[in-house]
Amino acid sequence: MAERTLRGARLGGQSFEDERGIEFAARQQVGYRCKQGHEFEITMSVEADIPAVWECPRCGAEALSTAGILPEEKAEKPARTHWDMLLERRSEKELEDILKERLELLRGGEIGPAHLHRANAKKRKAG
Ligand SMILES: [Zn+2]
Repeated sequence: MAERTLRGARLGGQSFEDERGIEFAARQQVGYRCKQGHEFEITMSVEADIPAVWECPRCGAEALSTAGILPEEKAEKPARTHWDMLLERRSEKELEDILKERLELLRGGEIGPAHLHRANAKKRKAG
């Protein structure tokens, strides 16, 4: 094995390696079409992951691959809602306890918006 490598290097020299390099860099044309109907092709290595979208060189819009490659859904992470963030910190049981506690305070007029306090004060006065 070592002998063959040495012989090849001696006979072919530098140019032999260059030719091989070009031969192995296989390319492909990937077609895209934007919403305006502009079609264009991008040359890529066959080993490259083909992007589903490419910027249109004529109008700058997103052009979709005509090979039918769809944009990856998982690339768009679902937005975390306030509820999701809350559940990361508290269990639903904890939240129920907190809700009960807060409702009692709210009904007792200890917390909540000022107009509720006033309503409670009126009620107290009336009663
Ligand atoms: Zn375009």
